[in-house]
Amino acid sequence: MWHFKQSDALRKPESLHDSYDFVVVGGGNAGCVLARRLTDQGRHTVLLVEKGDAGDSWTHRTPLPSFHHFSDGRHSTAFESARDEQLGRSVTLISGLGLGGSTRINGGQYTCGVPGEYNAWAQDGNVGWAYNDLKQFFKMSETWIGPVPREFHGAHGKWHSKGFAQVKSDVSPRTITSTMVECEIFGISSLISKDGTPLPHSKEQEDSTDPQNLPDFAVLSMKTSIGDPRTPGAELFKGLYVLNVALLRPKSSGRVLLRSTNPLEPPQCETRYLTHPDDYHALRAGLRTSLAVSRTMREGGYDISDLSVPDVSSDETLDAYVRKHAMSMMHYSSTCRMAPRFDAKPGVVDASLRVYGVQGLRIADASIIPVAPAAHPQAMVYAIAEKCADMMLKDASK
Ligand SMILES: Cc1cc2nc3c(=O)[nH]c(=O)nc-3n(C[C@H](O)[C@H](O)[C@H](O)COP(=O)(O)OP(=O)(O)OC[C@H]3O[C@@H](n4cnc5c(N)ncnc54)[C@H](O)[C@@H]3O)c2cc1C
Repeated sequence: MWHFKQSDALRKPESLHDSYDFVVVGGGNAGCVLARRLTDQGRHTVLLVEKGDAGDSWTHRTPLPSFHHFSDGRHSTAFESARDEQLGRSVTLISGLGLGGSTRINGGQYTCGVPGEYNAWAQDGNVGWAYNDLKQFFKMSETWIGPVPREFHGAHGKWHSKGFAQVKSDVSPRTITSTMVECEIFGISSLISKDGTPLPHSKEQEDSTDPQNLPDFAVLSMKTSIGDPRTPGAELFKGLYVLNVALLRPKSSGRVLLRSTNPLEPPQCETRYLTHPDDYHALRAGLRTSLAVSRTMREGGYDISDLSVPDVSSDETLDAYVRKHAMSMMHYSSTCRMAPRFDAKPGVVDASLRVYGVQGLRIADASIIPVAPAAHPQAMVYAIAEKCADMMLKDASK
C-alpha cells in the first residue's frame, strides 16, 4: 500500500556502509514504518533488509484489486500448512513478499479494535501498552478522511482511511446489483454458548495461550448471486454477495516449528483449527446468522440465489460445511508474543519488544501481539512499529 519506486529503495552492495546504527529485517507493514521513523530526524543510519522486490502500482494501493497479487507468486509467499487433523487437509498460508510486505496484497481493511483489547495487554503485565498509551501511535500513521469525529483518528499519516458506507433503508436493491459486496460476521468462541446465544464476557475468557501459538481466523465464505428484481425473469448474473464468517479469538491455537537448522527451509506451520470443540459453536452461530441475513434480504426484495451455503438442518451438516470450506484469513499473530518473562505463559519479548536472553534484538510486527486480536491487524501493526521506533529513538538519545 505504500508508494515505492525501484530507485527509492534499492542499493547496490558497493554503496552500502560498513556499519549502521540500526538494521531492520523485513520491509513489510512494520519494517517500513520502523525504518522511516528511525531515519526521519536524519541522525541515524538504517539498513532495511528485504527479501522481495520494490514495486508500486495502483492495484497494490487499491483495496480488493490488491488481492490480485496474492496469487501471482511474485508479491507473495504461499505455502501449505501441515495437514490439519480436523479439516483433513492442509491450509494455504499466504504472506506478502517485497517492500510493503503483506500490505501490498491485503484487503486494505483498517480497524483498530476496541480499547479493552489493549487494556487487557497492559493488565497482563505489558506496561505502556494500554489503549491510552497506544492511541498516539495509531494516529501517527493515519489520515482520516471521513466525516466522523477526529478524536480517535490521525490527520497527518500516510494511511488514508474512510469509514464503511452506511446502508440506509431507502437504498434500493438495484444499488448493489452491480457490485461485489462482502460482509463479515465475527464470532468469538468463548463468548457464544453451545446453543449459539451470547455469554457475558469475563477476564478469564480473554486468557492468552501458548507462546508458540498461531491463532488465526477461520473464514467461511457464503456466496449468493444477485439479480435485478426490476427485470422480471432475468437470469442475468449481476453481482456477487459474499458473507464471510470469521472466528475471532479461537480457543484452538496452532504453532510454528523449525523443520531443520537450515534457515532457508520454510517453517512447519500447524494450524490445528477446531481442535477445541467450542470453536464449532461460534462458527455454527455465524453461519446461521449469515443465512438469516440472506433471508431478510430476500424478504426485502433482493433477488438473491444461493451459490454456496450450508445445510442448516443439523449441527453435523453445519460442521461438515465448516470442515470443507474453512480457510485462513491470513491474520497470523502471536508467535513471538509479548508477555512478562516469568508469566505463567511466558512470552518471547518484553514490553520494550526486546527478545528475552538476546542483546540488541527487538521484534516489532504481528508476531508480538499477545492474543489474536478481535480486529483486522494491520492498524495494530502500524502502531506497534510506531511505538517501537519511539522507544528506540528515546533509548538512543540517552
Ligand atoms: C492476503 C491477505 C489479506 C489481508 N487482509 C487484511 C486486511 O484487509 N486488513 C488487515 O488489517 N490485515 C490484513 N491482512 C493481515 C495484515 O496484512 C498483516 O497482519 C500485516 O501486514 C503483518 O505485518 P508484518 O509487518 O507483521 O508482516 P509483513 O507485512 O508480512 O512483512 C514481512 C516482511 O518480511 C519480508 N521477509 C520475509 N522473510 C524475509 C527474510 N528472510 N529476509 C528479509 N525479509 C524477509 C517479507 O518479504 C515482508 O516484506 C491480510 C494479510 C494477507 C496475507
